Amino acid sequence: MGEGLYGMNSAQRSGIGMTSQRTRERLAARLGDAGIANVHVLNVIRQLPRHRFVDEALASRAYEDTALPIGCGQTISQPFVVARMTEILLAAGFPERVLEIGTGSGYQAAVLAALSGRVYTIERIRELHDRSRGIFRELGFENIWQRFGDGFAGWPSAGPFDAIILTAAPNEVPAVLLDQLNEGGRLLAPVGDADSQALRLYIRENGEVRSQIVEAVHFVPMLEGIE
Ligand code: SAH
Repeated sequence: MGEGLYGMNSAQRSGIGMTSQRTRERLAARLGDAGIANVHVLNVIRQLPRHRFVDEALASRAYEDTALPIGCGQTISQPFVVARMTEILLAAGFPERVLEIGTGSGYQAAVLAALSGRVYTIERIRELHDRSRGIFRELGFENIWQRFGDGFAGWPSAGPFDAIILTAAPNEVPAVLLDQLNEGGRLLAPVGDADSQALRLYIRENGEVRSQIVEAVHFVPMLEGIE
């Protein structure tokens, strides 16, 4: 194609230099340094084009370890948080069935889909639901099932699940979601209000659910109803 406008070639104009394999490698290395130990998770971060999950205007920032706006007042989570939550969910092995509440950009669902049998993901904002559907198709994901709706009810007909992840924070984890957890299953959720949230891990063992606090986090709130 040669040189185009302003002396830039087409790859430079589309920002490919900032969204290349090399920038992804750097992000994965940085997450490893920051304490992500699961090599499978790091490999997915290394391969998955996060810049496809954000607006083109932000593509050059997609491999910074930071949350970014995705429109509709929502954000794509920080890569470290995505990696950390995935690693915790996978600590008991690769899950067959995963439920995600809060599809958003679709990035977390895609990371999980690369490491599990099937991912079911629910989003309450129509625009985000539709946009992520297109990206999953373009990237060739065939094991992600999507629903437009309110995640407070979960997805009983697709459960029970080996892993459930909430990427928006409720004040308390709804009991119906814990009910959709398999024996040995893990549910990971940011719990709390805008001022104070903690990531909580719930594990169902011998029919009982016990929970522990993992670390402080900051997520958008989990809201009722649809938009
Ligand atoms: N996992 C996303 C994070 C997006 S932010 C990613 O990787 O990009 C959290 C998302 O949760 C937002 O898109 C928000 O609309 C959605 N959300 C909030 N409450 C919800 C609910 N009750 N049901 C489904 N989605 C919800």
